[in-house]
Amino acid sequence: MSRVYPDSYSAPSPNFTSGRPWGPPRYIVEHWTVGSAHSVEVTFQNPDAKVSAHFMVTREGYVVQFVELDDTAWHSGTAGFNYLGIGIEHEHIPEQDWPEAQLRASAALHRWLAQEFGIPLIHVDADASAGVLGHRETGYATACPGDLPIDRLIGGDMAFTKEQYAAELEDFVKDTVRVIVQNEVLPPLAKDIEARIASATAAQLHTHTPQPIDTAAIVAAAVKAVADKLTKP
Ligand SMILES: [Zn+2]
Repeated sequence: MSRVYPDSYSAPSPNFTSGRPWGPPRYIVEHWTVGSAHSVEVTFQNPDAKVSAHFMVTREGYVVQFVELDDTAWHSGTAGFNYLGIGIEHEHIPEQDWPEAQLRASAALHRWLAQEFGIPLIHVDADASAGVLGHRETGYATACPGDLPIDRLIGGDMAFTKEQYAAELEDFVKDTVRVIVQNEVLPPLAKDIEARIASATAAQLHTHTPQPIDTAAIVAAAVKAVADKLTKP
């Protein structure tokens, strides 16, 4: 089987070990490139370099896949974390910022990998049996991945930026209002609420111990009935 991330560009590298000698991957190992995306592509495509990673996420938010996920890439410097790891490079020069587009793309890739392989999106150390860790946290002597904000890649807050969320919400409200107007929902809804209150009141008149009418519940029930009708295909 040869698994590839659907939202990626393919740039196959000759530098990999066929298969997963120790079984399916259990770790995601994070890296920074300390160089341009182009220089990384050139290096990973050079068989003499003997290095690779499964992925690189560029500063613009593109994902490049070099090695298929059911093969072992050469990124950790140790056999174990290569065999059991998925290596992700992040295009970065020290002192640069981490663009939102890059972090969002990486977060989406992490979510897909977690789903595909059951890898828990938890920031762990090398003693854990599964999870996400920076290259230097595997015990290998390196500064990699520098100040990459790993917790933001796996924290779930990257699904939307605040601006995207606001835009989504605005669209949702506009769509909802359009549906209400197009279906002339409001006058019949008002009549329905009126009828429900009248019948609840009438029912109370016939009891020995009349209770106050719960108008909020009546309005909610009427709105729900309309919503159910509108959302039926
Ligand atoms: Zn690294």
